[in-house]
Amino acid sequence: MSTRFHPSDTLASWGRVVKATHLVARPRFTDELAGLLAAFSAAEPGLAVGLRRSYGDSNLNPGGRVIDMTALDRLIAFDRDTGVMRAEAGVSLSQALQVLVPLGWFLPTTPGTRFVTLGGAVANDVHGKNHHAAGTFGASVTRLKLRRTDGSMHELAPGDPLFHATVGGLGLTGVIEWVEFRAVRIPSADLDAHDVSFEHVHEYFDMSAEAKNSHEHTMAWVDCSKGGSRLGRGILSLANWSPRGDLKPHHEGPKKKMPMDAPGFALNAITVRAFNSIRHDLKTMRGGPYCTHYEPFLYPLDAIAHWNRLYGAKGFYQYQCALPSETARAGTIELLNTIVASGQGSPLAVLKDFGANPPVGLLSFPREGTTLAIDFRNQDEDTLKLMADLDRIVASAGGRLYPAKDGRIPAALFQSGFPKWQEFRAHVDPGLSSAFWRRVSA
Ligand SMILES: Cc1cc2nc3c(=O)[nH]c(=O)nc-3n(C[C@H](O)[C@H](O)[C@H](O)COP(=O)(O)OP(=O)(O)OC[C@H]3O[C@@H](n4cnc5c(N)ncnc54)[C@H](O)[C@@H]3O)c2cc1C
Repeated sequence: MSTRFHPSDTLASWGRVVKATHLVARPRFTDELAGLLAAFSAAEPGLAVGLRRSYGDSNLNPGGRVIDMTALDRLIAFDRDTGVMRAEAGVSLSQALQVLVPLGWFLPTTPGTRFVTLGGAVANDVHGKNHHAAGTFGASVTRLKLRRTDGSMHELAPGDPLFHATVGGLGLTGVIEWVEFRAVRIPSADLDAHDVSFEHVHEYFDMSAEAKNSHEHTMAWVDCSKGGSRLGRGILSLANWSPRGDLKPHHEGPKKKMPMDAPGFALNAITVRAFNSIRHDLKTMRGGPYCTHYEPFLYPLDAIAHWNRLYGAKGFYQYQCALPSETARAGTIELLNTIVASGQGSPLAVLKDFGANPPVGLLSFPREGTTLAIDFRNQDEDTLKLMADLDRIVASAGGRLYPAKDGRIPAALFQSGFPKWQEFRAHVDPGLSSAFWRRVSA
């Protein structure tokens, strides 16, 4: 029996602000894709989705059709000598690691959650804590197969214009059927890590510039509840793969679960406590070195399933911007001052410096400079107003916002932030669309 589209309960993205019904099909075999794509048209466009870890509306097509790719999760080939893996687009990074790690290989780069599909990793050209050393996920992709709604199929490789539109292309150039990428060698599954605290964001910029030369993985947690002399105080985490240790992969499931929506106030109390306890640990350790398995270092939030329920039933926004090097320091300080003054920031935000690696996709988000990512509990107009204020700072700093995290960016800011968007538009499959794309391309 062929797979059909069925009305869904409401679907939401990770931020849970937008919830909408869709017609959903979940194929189990790739030869079902052609029949499903035939139902998409310019009048009734559809979209492929993965594990729905994008926060905003780039993976939503309210009222329309979506193909849930997560049952297309077969490993097609792995060469244990070269590290080249080919797998169906619904394979998660978590599943890929279960194969790679015991054989001494790792993902070339990984976002802060392993519950992301290969299709989603390509469509957002995701980055990780090692961006300054390794670039984005797309930089490791050697081939991919794309199906378009006109029935055409394309095997694409770097150099092909449609490849560079598809990497970072938000699922709008076609449905990715499989992805082939090059893994990297690791000596063990452990990292030699080091945490250093800083009292002001100025120190972060000095320390991070130095750390990039000596450490493959760098990122900082920043406290957004304090201003003045403690503005942007935080902890810079640094790590390199350890030559000691074994090749044991992570535990597959999360250890704890958020069973239901927490009342909105709970988050602040919990994260403040978490931050204070990290600082306390640092004091005890005097910021000394430690050895850790990759799981808690690279995927700290994956330990709690459905942690997004911590923000309550109205959900939350994540605001992630990238500012170019020339404006990064002054712009970040202005952003932090605005967030602190609003009293709306969750106490923990993330700062990370991006490297100079050339972008792979026409819409790839990272650019040389600094990225700031922070969650805002959805408080309706107050939150939208704060983000509009932040937008003005980002725009005047010549920055951009990350579509994977966004659910409300105005068209003008998207278009100024991604100057190649018109070139990209020429590659969009007219039978595909998303709530995000309809807003920003208007
Ligand atoms: C806790 C957490 C931490 C994160 N940390 C980072 C980070 O450090 N760096 C980073 O870059 N991102 C990060 N992200 C964002 C996440 O990596 C991206 O949103 C990723 O694209 C999600 O993949 P997914 O499989 O969930 O795809 P979805 O969210 O379901 O879809 C994402 C996009 O991919 C498209 N898509 C999915 N599958 C296909 C396919 N087979 N063919 C064509 N298009 C497809 C969709 O249409 C959509 O546009 C984080 C997210 C969370 C929840």
